[in-house]
Amino acid sequence: MRIFVAGGAGYIGSCTTEYLLDQGHQVTVFDALLNGHRAAVDPRADFIQGNLEDLDGLQRAMDQARPEGVIHFAAFIEVGESMKDPLKYFNNNVANAIHLCQAATDHNVHKLVFSSTAAVYGMTEHFPIREEEPKSPINPYGESKLMFERILAWQHQLKGLPYTALRYFNAAGATRLHGEDHHPETHLIPLIIQAARGERKAISIFGEDYDTPDGTCIRDYIHVLDLAQAHLLALQSDFVGALNLGTGGGSSVRQVIDTVKKVAGHDFPVEVAPRRPGDPARLIADSTAARKILGWNPQYQDLETIVRSAWDWKQAHPLGYNDR
Ligand code: UDP
Repeated sequence: MRIFVAGGAGYIGSCTTEYLLDQGHQVTVFDALLNGHRAAVDPRADFIQGNLEDLDGLQRAMDQARPEGVIHFAAFIEVGESMKDPLKYFNNNVANAIHLCQAATDHNVHKLVFSSTAAVYGMTEHFPIREEEPKSPINPYGESKLMFERILAWQHQLKGLPYTALRYFNAAGATRLHGEDHHPETHLIPLIIQAARGERKAISIFGEDYDTPDGTCIRDYIHVLDLAQAHLLALQSDFVGALNLGTGGGSSVRQVIDTVKKVAGHDFPVEVAPRRPGDPARLIADSTAARKILGWNPQYQDLETIVRSAWDWKQAHPLGYNDR
């Protein structure tokens, strides 16, 4: 399949691109390199530097790539930043994403796969979370993703664009070649690894007074290669709609810290800090639908395996992609 990967120079985009190429597909990466890295683009892929904001440039890129499938990873991803600068999120994650939807429709693609998020749910009452749970995002990041899901549903209904929205829970881990290198880093596992390597003086736990067994937030960490597999299955499937992707098991912030300590083989300083605004106490996926409908069969489920892959990537790439 010819696949157009918007945001293929970012973390999940680069790992998915590697996976698609390994499976014999042809990939064009389209990325503005605002947060992505040129060195993260697999050399086997074609690369076009561009921003979704520029609809004409995007249409030309698609004329060139002639994709059968499109994957949309090119969004802003920080909950905390979205609480400070909501319009930045609505501009890129909604307005610019509409351009991708337009170009995909104009090019008659067979499927658009969209990186959505567990943040579309907000505070849910039932765990694990099923797709039918009410959607009430508690931050602009989650709201922006939900808005685009709804836009895709209308575009499908009225213009026939097939799509699958994949609601990831917490993407984590690395391949041997590609891993997580955000500037600034805000995600838990890479930050703990920095603390373990002495690159920061401590890891801060954002809140220890949540209604969870150890008081820290619970998340469902899912290996990036398992996400990659789901993207390919979604491109190949006729299913239209949204699916959760997670392990169904939750780990607390403290449990993740303990796992990094085990993998690193040594202790490091841990501090307790105030809650981070916009954080739900608990996000755990019910991914039964993805398993049934897509035949998704995640391979790297346990937290230690996930953390070890992130640790190994960081040991091999201590400066990340070294381009900032
Ligand atoms: N977290 C933390 N300290 C940090 C970074 C994150 O305690 O330095 C917590 C955060 O409050 C959340 C969990 O770790 O409960 C996962 O956060 P992350 O930003 O990795 O992903 P999110 O769940 O926001 O997508």
